[in-house]
Amino acid sequence: MTNAERDEQGGSDGDIGTPRPTRSGRWDAHAFERSAHLTVRRLARHVERSEAGETPVLRRRPPGEIARLLDIRRYLREGGMTAESYKRFLDRYLDEGVRMHHPAYLAHQVASPDFPAALGDLIHGVTNNVMSIYEMGAAAATVEFEVLRWMLDKVGFTRGAGVLTHGGSLANLTALLAARSSVAPNAWTDAVGGTFVLWASPATHYSLTRAMGIIGLGADNVRPLPVDEWGRIDSTRLPEILDHPQPAIALVANACTTGSGLYDDLVTVGRFCRENGIWFHVDGAHGASALLSDRYRHLLDGIELADSVVWDAHKMLRTSGVAAAVLVRDEAALDAAFRQQASYLFYGDQGFDQLRRTVEGTKAALGLKIFLNLAWRGERGLGDYVAQCYETAHLFWHIARRRAGFELPYEPQSNIVCFRYGTGDHARLRQVLMDEGSYHLSSTELAGRRYLRLTVMAPATCRTTLESLLDRIVALDQRVTDSADER
Ligand SMILES: *Cc1c(COP(=O)(O)O)cnc(C)c1O
Repeated sequence: MTNAERDEQGGSDGDIGTPRPTRSGRWDAHAFERSAHLTVRRLARHVERSEAGETPVLRRRPPGEIARLLDIRRYLREGGMTAESYKRFLDRYLDEGVRMHHPAYLAHQVASPDFPAALGDLIHGVTNNVMSIYEMGAAAATVEFEVLRWMLDKVGFTRGAGVLTHGGSLANLTALLAARSSVAPNAWTDAVGGTFVLWASPATHYSLTRAMGIIGLGADNVRPLPVDEWGRIDSTRLPEILDHPQPAIALVANACTTGSGLYDDLVTVGRFCRENGIWFHVDGAHGASALLSDRYRHLLDGIELADSVVWDAHKMLRTSGVAAAVLVRDEAALDAAFRQQASYLFYGDQGFDQLRRTVEGTKAALGLKIFLNLAWRGERGLGDYVAQCYETAHLFWHIARRRAGFELPYEPQSNIVCFRYGTGDHARLRQVLMDEGSYHLSSTELAGRRYLRLTVMAPATCRTTLESLLDRIVALDQRVTDSADER
């Protein structure tokens, strides 16, 4: 039956004077199925070709050219996309993007998504059972709740609570609100009386400084912790901070830092915080997923001492962006963060609401994609993925430091490695690699110098990828230096 026929049969309200409501928005289930099949086939090929490294890892056209190529402005004006033109659009759209499954994708800490999570995105896109209130989707809310319970258990919080947020930055903000409710219980209603400082290493993610600005405690009240040369907290010097005249809202440790990928010593820092009554926040946005790997779990020893933890799924748990968790040791502290009537969230058979624990209102069904990856691959499968990425990064360190001209300042602990080659312009070298579509690297400043930064995210990245990258850098460096001389 077509939509029109269905409308004929269903639309008999008998009131001749009223125009019939149009039902043009109804789904043509058949068209959806056909387009979805087509999309899935093309995406499968896209990933296959990306994994095989048969294409450039990215294309870099200017936006005007892309708008023309994809006919974006005409579609916006006139609509009229059909199955045929959608196919063309999709192919070009995929071609002009960054290929997260490509072995040469080595840039930012963004997941190379696994397919169960991608199915979760599709399911959410159709069903739209949004989060925050239970009555908007009991299954979706229950999945979120159980995923959080699982995460709390991994971290070692037996009386904790958590909430999924759209990203680690929002999760960090939420954690600081919980910390603030603990040091300044009336801040929610009466504004903060007095100054509080946040202790954090200079390598801490900028979202925490921003959060200090947002909650009115002042970005300038982020105080640098004593650190070693590569930004790790120097725990022998921690007692120095006790002499500071202002009380602390929290102390942040990184597991691991964004720039260098190095882990702070959570046991020593955690004990120091507990002994001195300081709220201990562990930013595990990137590296908390190592909890799933027997081989690397030790890097997170001491995380159980934390008062709050942030853990992104869209980095190392292989979901699309974004899905993050903020986990708090003491359930009451999370409820107090937003001060909307201390609530134990179960209310009998009606389920539970997370609305009181989050900055956000409507929220995607974030738990579903995390759950599907776990259900499909198991903790073990995801842990093995994390271990493989960490080992591949370590392999890069191992082979690159044996090559003439490469400088690797520290032994990596995660899937992030920083390095330099020669004396050329590293920012330009990175641009050239991107322009030719051969490798996508990122770059960062450490101890006052610019480094190239490699993050292993794609399971397809292997020894050959790394060897060829080193060859390419050696070949290009000469040219980049030469052309710089000519200018
Ligand atoms: C990525 C990252 C964040 C920010 O998370 P988003 O999900 O990008 O908002 C915070 N802290 C650390 C250590 C990170 O690596």
